[in-house]
Amino acid sequence: MAPAVTPHRGGERGTASPPARARRPRRPAVRTASLLLALAATAGTALAPQPAAGGTHPGPNGPTGPTVVSLTFDDGSEDHYLHVLPSLREHGMTGTFYVNSGRVGAPGYLTAAQLRALAAEGHEIGGHTADHARLTELDEAERGHQICDDRAALLDLGLPVRNFAHPFGADSPEVRRQVARCGYNSARDIGGIVSPGSCSGCRHAEPVPPPDRYGVRTPDSADERTTLATLQEYVLQAERNGGGWVPIVFHHVCDACSESLVITPETFDAFLDWLRPRAAAGTTVATVDGVIGGPLRPVPATASASGAELAGARRTD
Ligand SMILES: [Zn+2]
Repeated sequence: MAPAVTPHRGGERGTASPPARARRPRRPAVRTASLLLALAATAGTALAPQPAAGGTHPGPNGPTGPTVVSLTFDDGSEDHYLHVLPSLREHGMTGTFYVNSGRVGAPGYLTAAQLRALAAEGHEIGGHTADHARLTELDEAERGHQICDDRAALLDLGLPVRNFAHPFGADSPEVRRQVARCGYNSARDIGGIVSPGSCSGCRHAEPVPPPDRYGVRTPDSADERTTLATLQEYVLQAERNGGGWVPIVFHHVCDACSESLVITPETFDAFLDWLRPRAAAGTTVATVDGVIGGPLRPVPATASASGAELAGARRTD
């Protein structure tokens, strides 16, 4: 572990009993195949030139089509199993959980059995580096360890890990290339979509497919200032501006916990209550893999052994 780079690590008090396992077949929240077809039909307009960020209203610049929301959860904290999983199950939705292999089973974090249980219910497990490393501050060998060895470790746990999220939203062209070389199909950033008090000149949603799938943009991470209305507005602003993909970033979902990147289970539940019936109007929920697609690629042997050996590797992005 690397305590110096873990400002939003766990420590929450989630000690309640784990939720009951689902015994009945899971109801899919969306029909992924039809969703992808519908979104693919909009891809031509989705890739229209985008305005420079900052200042002025961008105008009608985004995609035209349905809105798809991805519920993403960072850092593998225990409250995801205690509070998020039961709520997603209740609402018939699936989420994407980006976890750090070096923390699996540590106090306050998800265990391997919990991660497998999430995957067994249709949720997606993604990679987030071994130790929540700030990748832009590492040399290539250490980046290779943090990204490729982390992915290999999660695959070894039986988790079909296809997508990645940049810790701290810290990335660079070099980081993105290395994520691709480690076999990931996408990487989610933080920021780049219009949010309260930030990014006013940005897009209202990501096009599908995103212009840079190793730098997928999002609204700001949900935190203690995030209200139900804010979460709703992330969806509504996409719907008003031609639809597209809205990956929403959550960290902790818990009551009376001392975290800063936290919303309450009540707010989260209320958001899903509001979101679910919007499917009838074309706004649906899908995992990141459900939007990005792509095969489960292996971690290249050289990449897993040593990041330094990646120097001459083929660029895949
Ligand atoms: Zn993180």
